[in-house]
Amino acid sequence: MRRTKIVATLGPASGDPETLRRLVEAGVDVARLNFAHGTRDEHAETAERLRRAADQAGRQVALLQDLPGPKLRIGPIEDDVAELAAGDGLTLVADSDQPGDARRMSVSWPGLATSLEPGEILYLADGSVRLRVESVRAGESEIDTCVEIGGAVASRQGLNVPGELADLPAVPEDDIGQLEFGEQIGVDLVALSFVRRPEDVEQVRGHTRLPLIAKIEKPQAVESINEICRVSDCIMVARGDLGIELPIEEGPVVQKRVIASAGEAARPVITATQMLDSMVTSSRPTRAEVADVANAILDGTDAVMLSQETAIGEHPVEAVEIMAAVAERTERIAPYAAWNERRVHRDARDPAYTIAYNACGAVRDLNLSALIVPTLSGRSARLISAHRPDVPIYALSPGRETVRRCSLMWGVQAASMRRHEVTEELIADAAGRVVALGWGVPGQRVGITAGLPSGRPGTTSLLQVQELPSAEVSRA
Ligand code: PEP
Repeated sequence: MRRTKIVATLGPASGDPETLRRLVEAGVDVARLNFAHGTRDEHAETAERLRRAADQAGRQVALLQDLPGPKLRIGPIEDDVAELAAGDGLTLVADSDQPGDARRMSVSWPGLATSLEPGEILYLADGSVRLRVESVRAGESEIDTCVEIGGAVASRQGLNVPGELADLPAVPEDDIGQLEFGEQIGVDLVALSFVRRPEDVEQVRGHTRLPLIAKIEKPQAVESINEICRVSDCIMVARGDLGIELPIEEGPVVQKRVIASAGEAARPVITATQMLDSMVTSSRPTRAEVADVANAILDGTDAVMLSQETAIGEHPVEAVEIMAAVAERTERIAPYAAWNERRVHRDARDPAYTIAYNACGAVRDLNLSALIVPTLSGRSARLISAHRPDVPIYALSPGRETVRRCSLMWGVQAASMRRHEVTEELIADAAGRVVALGWGVPGQRVGITAGLPSGRPGTTSLLQVQELPSAEVSRA
């Protein structure tokens, strides 16, 4: 069983039922709908198809809604492309409906002119074009810049401003509307782009009950990473925009730091963007890309993400297959004992941490085959997963939503089970269910976590070690 989870972005290359079926069978655990692109109708239809493909394959696949957040964009450009030359001047102007050109372009946020100072750096075209602010005419909402590094710029491309834009709303109105829509089409997880502060995540909490993934792509978010981890359900190292907003050489160091912080807080973490980028056109990845996937896993990532590779690439299924193969091979050499000991900052007030830590010790000392984790909210599964035991973690929950949320947690395989009020019955049913599902074999020694009173979230304080029952007992 592969432990590292695979997130695949769906798009024109992967939305048809046959490709979706093959993607699910190849091992996609979480399907990402990128709300920066596509219409609501398209997302609704893709979500529906994905559910059908997952049901047919008998696999749990969670749906992730990725909200664009306060992303700044330039407006339309005449003939769709403008070639900017180094040394030329370019004026950015808010509220202009005129198609832009190499001298003048519109920007999506009127507040930009009042938020910038001369000398600040802006990026276009995925970071390849660099502008320096020369002067700002706030009254006219105009910003005069000088092109420091030129290149081609296309209509509606992103504009990156690494500086602090204090007045930029953390969560645009549009995102809040999209949240409601996401719930209607049954998404399981929500990702927030351009998070800068913990308050940005907390603000969205008021609008949804779904787990929130903070995308780390701003320098300010890196500075507050520990606080952001505490208020988020999950973290994403969004290396695309991060690589524009920070000097590119900072990327690997920041990736390690963010993954470590997420591990300390026992939050699942996704490493995203350009992991197998050459597979957008090539049927084989480069050696460097394969090493990148492996190194993210050894850094301690829970999940690895495919973006363009599966959204618009020519080889979406092969990209998932290769990612799965690299993960399985790499996991064999992962430093499990060190992870068990040091990865998580355990909260001494909460016995669930101690149970999670000692369950990993019991796996080693007693040679257990698996850990079985009945869980109402998914929290116990998350804590055990964060400690990285060297055996499968079987999460069982009465909540369908909890079952799907586990799709992002490293090493966790989840299924539904009945709700129990009596702890002995919970333990017996959990063990039987693992045999009935074909995940475990009668006689295998396993650890089972539980809480008292049963049926209430946040009570995990027991670890039972026993052998899995015979199939007859499991069916009873
Ligand atoms: C990223 O920037 O790496 C990322 C995952 O976000 P998006 O694809 O929305 O730009």
